[in-house]
Amino acid sequence: MLTVKTFTFNPVQENTYILYNENRDCVIIDPGCYFQEEREALQKGIESDGLKPVLLLNTHGHFDHIFGNKFVFETWGLIPHIHEKEKPVLEMAEISSKKWDLPFDVYHGEMKYLQEGETVKIGDEQLECVFTPGHSPGSLSFYYPSGNFIIGGDVLFSGSVGRTDLPGGDYELLIQTIQLKFFTLPDDTKVYPGHGPLTIIGYEKMNNPYVKLY
Ligand SMILES: [Zn+2]
Ligand SMILES: [Zn+2]
Repeated sequence: MLTVKTFTFNPVQENTYILYNENRDCVIIDPGCYFQEEREALQKGIESDGLKPVLLLNTHGHFDHIFGNKFVFETWGLIPHIHEKEKPVLEMAEISSKKWDLPFDVYHGEMKYLQEGETVKIGDEQLECVFTPGHSPGSLSFYYPSGNFIIGGDVLFSGSVGRTDLPGGDYELLIQTIQLKFFTLPDDTKVYPGHGPLTIIGYEKMNNPYVKLY
């Protein structure tokens, strides 16, 4: 079984998730650590629990989700895994972060690409890659059926949805993604979003003002 640890980092208040198994192998998802003390907090949080990072995943390429890619690569030698359609988003991240006055040390090394339906492993545990575009063209969510949760990125938030006014965003597509890829999960599935608190599929189906059930 995978256990989830959450950090909230950077001025955009992005959620960084650590998932670990019984052997203490862990996956780092969207390391948003921006300041030196946040990088230290991430490293401390991992090392104090005796965790061994084995995989780096990015739900998408917006700067608030990739600030720490270079740090994770340099510290644990992990190559970022992302959907190939995020290439242009990654290329823009450096420029857009400067516009937001949040310049950062960009990772320019090798990337590994993940596709819809592919699974990634942490020991015996499996996460399913779900293609969830709309907020960004190549957004991926990582579904863990055995633990009844999905790491959702910036797709569905508690009472809200991801913004679609950034380059490559598409509101209609985002709503469709939520209806087809999120609202078809079991009602008690927990969603760990890229921002804000955890939510539950059944609750969002009933209460989310942006998404109709069908
Ligand atoms: Zn985003
Ligand atoms: Zn975000």
